[in-house]
Amino acid sequence: MPAVSEVPASMREAVDAAKQKVADLHAELPRWGLVVWTAGNVSERVKGVDGAPDLLVIKPSGVSYDELDADAMVVTDLKGELVEGTRSPSSDTAAHAYVYEHMPEVGGVVHTHSTYATAWAARGEEIPCVLTMMGDEFGGPIPVGPFAIIGDDSIGRGIVETLSGHRSKAVLMQNHGPFTIGGDAKAAVKAAVLLEEVAKTVHVSRQLGDPLPIEQRHIDSLFDRYQNVYGQH
Ligand SMILES: [Zn+2]
Repeated sequence: MPAVSEVPASMREAVDAAKQKVADLHAELPRWGLVVWTAGNVSERVKGVDGAPDLLVIKPSGVSYDELDADAMVVTDLKGELVEGTRSPSSDTAAHAYVYEHMPEVGGVVHTHSTYATAWAARGEEIPCVLTMMGDEFGGPIPVGPFAIIGDDSIGRGIVETLSGHRSKAVLMQNHGPFTIGGDAKAAVKAAVLLEEVAKTVHVSRQLGDPLPIEQRHIDSLFDRYQNVYGQH
């Protein structure tokens, strides 16, 4: 699809709504203790209308969380090229864009260096599925993605290769930290919050001895129930 140099009029309303939503969701990262300073980012896909390509909304690079209102958000295409905004996009934009480009079902992406999840990432060890809430939200263990350094598409590729065909909405990029995905940005933020909680709890459990595994058939039924039945319908 051709590149766009500005937000098409047909997508104006959806882009503005996404800017507000993504700005509000950024406030959840410090609120849940997932980020320090300007680290971390939330993005959301805006579906293309009338043949226009999809866009994404993300925060600008290196701006304090206190300043992240809807107007501060930036819009890029799925190559990470700036389409709208007065500041440069987050340095992780290329990774987010790569995920949207290659996983069409994903509508939201979150990246943090939250302490416990990143501690597991530093050891390159998957988090075993030993909590029912892990079965519910992630459907199994949290996988580890490859070591990759910012600058090309290797982080995005590592996320996509690890999560494609995997139930988990979270990947621990080795020596770096977690990326989470969801149907929209809110679902990806929820996964980031729950990931940090389970990373912490399993770590604490490990200090006491060996956590007990959950049988696969139970994990399967937890995942099925939580994803398809639980909550308000
Ligand atoms: Zn990072």
